[in-house]
Amino acid sequence: MSFILRCIDCGHKAPYFPTSISCPKCGSQWREAEYDLDTLSKTLPLQLPNRPFDLWRYHELLPVRNPDPACSLGEGGTPLIKAANLGLMLGCPNIYIKDERQGPTASFKDRQAAVSMAALKEAGITEMVVASTGNVAIAYSAYAARAGIKLWAFVTSLVPAVKMREVALYGSQLIKVSGSYDSVKRAASEFAKQRNLYQNMGARSIPSVESMKTISFEIAEQLTGYLGNDASAEDGIPRWQTPDWYIQSVSGGMGPLGVDKGFSELKKMGFVNKKPAIVGVQSAGCAPIVNSWKKGLETAEVVAVPRTHIETLATGNPGRTYQFLRNIVNDTGGAFESVTDEEAFRAMHVLAKMEGISAEPAAAVAFAGLFKLVRAGVIKPDDTVVVNCTGHTVPPEKLVLGDNWARNVVLPKEEERKEETPQEGILAALSHVVPERFPRVVIVDDTTEARLLIRRILQSQGDFTIFEANNGKEALRVVRREKPDLIILDLMMPELDGFGVLDELKADSETEGIPVIVSTAKELTKEEKERLKGQIQSLLQKGDFMSDEFFDEVHTIIN
Ligand SMILES: *Cc1c(COP(=O)(O)O)cnc(C)c1O
Ligand SMILES: [Zn+2]
Repeated sequence: MSFILRCIDCGHKAPYFPTSISCPKCGSQWREAEYDLDTLSKTLPLQLPNRPFDLWRYHELLPVRNPDPACSLGEGGTPLIKAANLGLMLGCPNIYIKDERQGPTASFKDRQAAVSMAALKEAGITEMVVASTGNVAIAYSAYAARAGIKLWAFVTSLVPAVKMREVALYGSQLIKVSGSYDSVKRAASEFAKQRNLYQNMGARSIPSVESMKTISFEIAEQLTGYLGNDASAEDGIPRWQTPDWYIQSVSGGMGPLGVDKGFSELKKMGFVNKKPAIVGVQSAGCAPIVNSWKKGLETAEVVAVPRTHIETLATGNPGRTYQFLRNIVNDTGGAFESVTDEEAFRAMHVLAKMEGISAEPAAAVAFAGLFKLVRAGVIKPDDTVVVNCTGHTVPPEKLVLGDNWARNVVLPKEEERKEETPQEGILAALSHVVPERFPRVVIVDDTTEARLLIRRILQSQGDFTIFEANNGKEALRVVRREKPDLIILDLMMPELDGFGVLDELKADSETEGIPVIVSTAKELTKEEKERLKGQIQSLLQKGDFMSDEFFDEVHTIIN
């Protein structure tokens, strides 16, 4: 490691010591690490092939002189997963998920904790204070335990109890503070000052921002693995791929700050030729960055009282980080977007049921943002998108699941079994688990893929009994037999098309009342639209299955 800190305000350069927190010349706490990228662009490519794929693979670009393997928990090197089903659903085939749930404490705060603790241990620090909305406290506690550093973790009393218990399990001193996260930060800072303890400074902590760069390094390498390398390796400099978009849910903004710096460094070294457009997504109940950006403000309007269930994202005052993020988003052609808690919970279900990925609500916020931007046409079908799945849900809160999420089976006690064989007792108990009558849906489409996609999307929304028909005639047969609660009808089919099916359904008193949602790949003519008028519930463009209209339609029919 050879690098220097440059003051963002006066440009003064000084060596790095974790304990010195401000510019010796002007006193500013806003400084940035600068590396000898010229040299690294030549030496790194020779060394990378022999290194494991983890966070320390890029240690020359991190502010730690001698990383101690004994403090590592296997951080970094999380998989980049292709989201094929989400891709189909959204009509964007190139969506990838950076699965940060797979870190040692199941969130991307592991990177921050690993690099920070390594830097602090190196500097001889033995006790420190952090303020957290939950995941920082967990990650820092784990790494503090490993590094033998005593940690005082300040959290808001709104942090879910399971998260707090994990902090305590690692042996940290847990301080619950009532009030907003911003007041927790003030309390932590006061405590640290009184006791003269080192305190984590959020985005002003060099190791924190620097650690997040490793996300970009990994994405660039992994995406190259997927998309192939267009390298002319003759000059020995790798040519890695950059996604068009990097999307992350944002609270304090550490992630995007570091990720953008990471791509900047890769670009300066010539490893990539562009940076991704950065998207930050916030919870609508606490979206100071999004709202201020949309209003074109140069400093952020503070949200004094966050109104969101998603505590992890409840930073009401982004401070100066807002200005840095605003520049990054504007320079890269990115965006800020907000989503409601309900949209986030819905995205959480979609992600779990479509891709098998259980994300915590804060991480789902990024996916809800993705859906919104695709629907708005900001993200185009051919764009390559990486979404950071920032954290795991442990365990899903009741709020998210709603009622009836499991069925109970009571087995008879041993002594009550009498003559029955044990099997009979179990079977009798299970016979009470009769499936309820789920809403019945007939999907009519002549392509198997489209039927499968609609089936998956429906299943991501609840329990249905689904029937399929692959042409118009078959559709009429199935509908007459099954008397469904809803029909999802394709228009363009050989022989009897969707219009023909509708005519027949409407002419039959048994079927005329069944709601129909028409899905179509083509732009309809005026006459065609006229023909559908009054006959159908709603009209969907294919690839538009993520629309609120569709979900609302489906939910009205279920309820
Ligand atoms: C901390 C956190 C965020 C927000 O991260 P920042 O980049 O610091 O704004 C998002 N999701 C999860 C799960 C987090 O723990
Ligand atoms: Zn300065």
